[in-house]
Amino acid sequence: MANTLKTRNMLCDVCNAATTPDEGSVVSPENFRKLLAKGWGVHENNIGMVMESGLLREQAITMLTQQHAASQSPWFLCPQCAAQARNV
Ligand SMILES: [Zn+2]
Repeated sequence: MANTLKTRNMLCDVCNAATTPDEGSVVSPENFRKLLAKGWGVHENNIGMVMESGLLREQAITMLTQQHAASQSPWFLCPQCAAQARNV
């Protein structure tokens, strides 16, 4: 899910905030699944987007959690999300 752009700016894979490779943290798919299991990693914006397609909130969270857990590539987190992830 890492968004590698030609510039040095990258987007956080969780909240979409612009950040740089120096500031952000990379989380392996295995570790991200552990965060998901603890209930962290699905962003409110994504939940809202899925709910717009007609799903209930719980269904949206379940779907996004499954999608995120299926990712095979490392996750790139902005400093804010990295700080949250450390406290999950
Ligand atoms: Zn973030």
